[in-house]
Amino acid sequence: MNSLSDRINNLSTSQTLAMAALARELKAQGKDIISLSLGEPDFNTPDFIKEAAKKAIDENYSTYSPVDGYVELKEAICRKFKRDNNLDYKPANIVVSTGAKQSLYNIAQCMLNEGDEVILPAPYWVSYYEIIKMAGGIPVEVPTSVESDFKITPEQLEKAITPKTKMIWYSSPCNPSGSVYSREEFTAIAKVLEKYPNIFVVADEIYEHINFSGTFCSIASIPGMFERTITVNGVAKAFAMTGWRIGYIGAPEFIAKACTKMQGQVTSGANSIAQRATIAAVDADPKVLNYMVEAFHKRRDLVVGLIKEIPGLKINVPEGAFYVFPDVSSFFGKTLRGTLIKDATDFSMYLLAEANVATVTGDAFGNPDCIRFSYATSEELLVEAMRRIKEVLA
Ligand code: PMP
Ligand code: GLU
Repeated sequence: MNSLSDRINNLSTSQTLAMAALARELKAQGKDIISLSLGEPDFNTPDFIKEAAKKAIDENYSTYSPVDGYVELKEAICRKFKRDNNLDYKPANIVVSTGAKQSLYNIAQCMLNEGDEVILPAPYWVSYYEIIKMAGGIPVEVPTSVESDFKITPEQLEKAITPKTKMIWYSSPCNPSGSVYSREEFTAIAKVLEKYPNIFVVADEIYEHINFSGTFCSIASIPGMFERTITVNGVAKAFAMTGWRIGYIGAPEFIAKACTKMQGQVTSGANSIAQRATIAAVDADPKVLNYMVEAFHKRRDLVVGLIKEIPGLKINVPEGAFYVFPDVSSFFGKTLRGTLIKDATDFSMYLLAEANVATVTGDAFGNPDCIRFSYATSEELLVEAMRRIKEVLA
């Protein structure tokens, strides 16, 4: 008998985390696995942030924090939004959560009723789909491809809008495609949304600083968009703080209040020490991250160059984040070393079995033609991984 709820039975396991777990398990069994599955910087958290955390422990930040975050942190986040994004949020617009994942979960729970539609330009980050479904929402995928740099056009957006459309969710720089929308592109999207004032936008900017394009645009900074955008960000990626679990939103006050009510019943305020450390992180000049961003940039060039040398893989040049998302569909229907490759999942499993390289199938991100590599690992391992892949595809 299955005693679990329909809710959990209908929930898919996070495929990024599942692949990372499988890679770890195979490694523990002694296999020489190179894991390009998880999106996680391979750097340590910068020392000045660790110092702030140690100080917070010594200063006894050990009690429950305010549910929406320490006011000093919310003020620092407002300064960050002004400095980096030209957004005028007040502390009442900010909610600090246990990772951007919880920020997104709060938003879905607070904004969606059963049957509300949420437009997801595909590929989208793996958890959006399930978080929306858990809240009773209906994800409406708008497909893109490598040929259009995985970006949607204003026409595609307009076509996807129905009377039931409540929100649109995207990340830029995008996980998994690395694409970055320009101000011009967002302005054209905002123009479409002008006609539909009831649609809200979730702008996931967690990869903001890992951006090689030289420009970054927050859609909330486009005239008319501030009051209908929920800007999501966090320290996991840019500050190499995935385990600290701090994310945050800037949102209209009624939404911030709702998210606070939600997490007040579910988790209470986020970890007190991590919040104090985050003050140091968001107050720092983003230039302190240059050494990591430069390393990612160099690896991006390396991996894109190596992938271009592998016959059959099609790739865009991702402008941000630390992922590449090659189209592998030219292999579908072919038999490699006795294995029939029907789809991207078969392809990804083939690379794991034959090359000992862990990737994530594009299916998880709503694009069945591609697979995702995370290049947040050493150049040496990247070169070796690409060598192995080339060999098993030859
Ligand atoms: N959004 C995107 C696009 C992500 O890639 C991730 C993965 N970490 C998250 C949100 C969640 O971030 P966090 O680790 O802060 O929960
Ligand atoms: N966001 C990262 C990824 O996409 C980490 C894993 C996760 O949270 O799903 O790989």
